[in-house]
Amino acid sequence: TASSTGSSSVDAPVIVRAAAPWRWKLGVMLENSATEGLTIRLVDGATGHELAGDAHLLQLPADALRTRRVLPANSYPRDKQHGQLLCPADLISLTHLHEASVVECLVHRYHQEKIYTNTGPVLLALNPFQTIHGLYDDATMRQYWHHAESNTDEELPPHVYAVADATFRGMMRKLEMATAANQSQEQFDCNQSILVSGESGAGKTVTMKFAMKYLAALSQRLADFYAKAGTPSYLTLTKKDGKKKGGSGAIGRTITDPLALRGHTFAVKTQPSLYVPMGTSSASKRRGSLATASTLSNQTDSIENKVLQSNPILESFGNARTIRNDNSSRFGKFIQMQFTRYGKLIGAEIETYLLEKVRILTQTPGERNYHIFYEFLSGGMDFRELKTYHFTSKQTPADFKICASSNTFDRRDGVPDSDTYRELRRAMHIMHFSAETQKDIFNVTAAILHSSNLTWMEVDGTGESAVDQSNPHLEAVCQLLEVTPEDMTQSLCYYSITVRDNVVRKSLSKEKTEHGFEALLKALYGALFTSLVRRINQSISYKKKPTKSAEPTEEGEEEEEDEFVIEEEDDPMHVPACFIGILDIFGFESFTVNSFEQLCINYCNETLQMQFSSFILKNEQKEYEKEGIKWDFIDFAENQDVLDLIERKSGIIGILDDMCRAPGTTDRVFCDTLYKNCTTSSVFTANKKQTAMLMFTIHHYAGPVEYTADGFVEKNRDELPKESTEFLRKSPNEFVRELAEIIEGSVNVSDGTSNNGGGKGRKQLARTVGGQFRDQLKDLRVKIEKTTPCYIRCLKPNDLLVPNRFEIPIVAEQLRCGGVLEAVRVARAGFTQHYPHVEFVRRYRPLVWREWQKKAIASSSDVGDVCRKLIDALFEKLQHLEASEKKDGGDGPRFVKLGM
Ligand code: ATP
Ligand code: MG
Repeated sequence: TASSTGSSSVDAPVIVRAAAPWRWKLGVMLENSATEGLTIRLVDGATGHELAGDAHLLQLPADALRTRRVLPANSYPRDKQHGQLLCPADLISLTHLHEASVVECLVHRYHQEKIYTNTGPVLLALNPFQTIHGLYDDATMRQYWHHAESNTDEELPPHVYAVADATFRGMMRKLEMATAANQSQEQFDCNQSILVSGESGAGKTVTMKFAMKYLAALSQRLADFYAKAGTPSYLTLTKKDGKKKGGSGAIGRTITDPLALRGHTFAVKTQPSLYVPMGTSSASKRRGSLATASTLSNQTDSIENKVLQSNPILESFGNARTIRNDNSSRFGKFIQMQFTRYGKLIGAEIETYLLEKVRILTQTPGERNYHIFYEFLSGGMDFRELKTYHFTSKQTPADFKICASSNTFDRRDGVPDSDTYRELRRAMHIMHFSAETQKDIFNVTAAILHSSNLTWMEVDGTGESAVDQSNPHLEAVCQLLEVTPEDMTQSLCYYSITVRDNVVRKSLSKEKTEHGFEALLKALYGALFTSLVRRINQSISYKKKPTKSAEPTEEGEEEEEDEFVIEEEDDPMHVPACFIGILDIFGFESFTVNSFEQLCINYCNETLQMQFSSFILKNEQKEYEKEGIKWDFIDFAENQDVLDLIERKSGIIGILDDMCRAPGTTDRVFCDTLYKNCTTSSVFTANKKQTAMLMFTIHHYAGPVEYTADGFVEKNRDELPKESTEFLRKSPNEFVRELAEIIEGSVNVSDGTSNNGGGKGRKQLARTVGGQFRDQLKDLRVKIEKTTPCYIRCLKPNDLLVPNRFEIPIVAEQLRCGGVLEAVRVARAGFTQHYPHVEFVRRYRPLVWREWQKKAIASSSDVGDVCRKLIDALFEKLQHLEASEKKDGGDGPRFVKLGM
């Protein structure tokens, strides 16, 4: 490697680690002596030139190599035209693969606008924070799908499109195999998933949207093809005697022209393959000539478009400006895009995780509430419409308490709220949200804004409270939700307890009422979000079409047509065969103060990490089995301990749930139980100082995180006084009642039966936040396990959200948290390099060229044999080299770690 940069092994470039952690520098090994230690001179990373002066001359102990303070470096060829270093597109092909070399390659590629890099099965995606010309346009998209169709050896650069393409084709291949073997799709694991992760602002949502867009476009392309070429009608025809004719058993091979039904003759044509007939290859032209009748209508509002339009809606209601991202998703999401046997998108289903509800009430300075509130008052809505929501055109978000607290009103990325508002309305329209539904949704949104300004008063001298009737926002709230001030007071300012079988109503203090009302607002917004997801799902999910009678019917012919019954739901053109799931979920978090939310998020990441490493390991193992290589993989499922600690029955969530069920539990009681039960786990620690402050540390795969248990019990309970939804339930408005129902089904309602001290007692806790999330995660894992996964790790090159700035420590940290280096380690635990025989010969022959010719290694016709001889020659040469290097004192290129 040294010779390729023109240096000898003595003064070859190396990378050196500077005093600050994660900062590696390139250097050259000047001396490597067992007695004198290592002498290294630093070089300029960009030019490769040695840096002069003593400051750049390093002296390290002789064991620096063994202790990995010095790591071997790679050398890269330079682009002849621009002199740029050419780092490989797949880092797995690096001879020396470790954190420093990964980061080094990423830096070079990033500055060359190559934001995507593969590392084996993982696609690394650096957020450029700027538009890279042509990176996502239609021409690029076409490049990727044409590439897969043409049999070329030339590789396209890594891209999210390449990942989406590979999942799609993987799915189609498996479907094809399943059909050929006449077996069910499940047996062939046709489902795929794309798992996108990364920290906030790393670009997960953008990436996920491009993957969705690519898949939708591919599906649309198929639809267009079928529409033009004529779609075979895959109707299952059942003879009256129940025997099938044609039909799904012969999918893909039998075409039954529906028009032929009229004459009772079946035009059965054999079609060699329907496998993704895209492009204008001769094969697809041939297929095009099979034109019969088209069963795919030219929908203007195609399912593809509808599925994509779920994004603006979810973003308006589920995204917010945070310190780390102007459009931060405050929920996790898994979307399953369902495809037919022929690769046509036919529906989708969205599941969301852990919407951040506290944001509704307060935001940290520099952050905003959910976008929708600003969009509402952004000027995008006309005067008359505004009035129906009881706003004046002069009002701004600053006039409402839930938006005013952080004193932050716009987005740094310059995206106007009026634009996203228009997108939202357009999306709702395409999704077929009726005018009424839209009004319902906006009524509640407006009511939440107005509600935040409501005031509560003390009823003179009684200690009781009531809603303040003089507040100008009260009328708006009451009209929008169709409730009365009296009902509000009754349900929000009182609670009932049962004393000796008598229900007694008691009044709440003003303070408690306010507190309860805030909890209700949070729950109401959560319910609104849930109902939106439901509606989106209703609009895009696959629905079985009702069975229709035989279609082209003409009077008088019907009698004879009756001989056949058409079962449309069996028509493979119209039923989902499998899905591609895309996960966009919060990355690992470690802040100065970590609370319950971080525990849930990190627990989620542990689950995914577990899935990830076992997949990588399985993959590697499979490869070895295929090659007949015997190798015992050590068990890498190291984070099972952490998962056990969190999710087993007597683990953290279990304990928390138990505690939450008992009345009067405090965070202190919870913590003491933790300290008693969990310290046996090797990944849980709590020192004296921590126990005094209700803190504990979990040693996650990505590093230790210190949690503060403050508020754990309350957050996990997510409780509402039972009476507080009563006024909503009384509303004649169906949507408002639906929300009340969602609230009652998702949060825990407390009642005053066991405790007359102010509504603190409770019925059996139906569900806790932690418990619910644990179940959701288990479900998710089961779903992912049934798919062939691929991974995209999004990386944020800097915290300033600016282009052209790559901060090495920040990226290195993310690689570690994203488990990328761990994956590399797993892969490296076996054989670190995988080459086909021919490639091996091609790659290493030049090193022993003379011997090659002399010894006529290539005389054998068996390429395996050639490889063996080549290896012998290489070893011989290596021993020779080592002997002469010892004499020279050099040790080839090295990464050097400093300041450890
Ligand atoms: P969060 O966890 O907070 O939701 P995220 O990982 O989903 O964060 P995104 O919202 O996808 O982050 O990206 C943040 C911003 O970075 C985007 O709004 C966009 O401005 C920019 N960005 C991300 N990816 C790209 C890209 N490929 N090209 C250009 N800009 C990008
Ligand atoms: Mg996001």
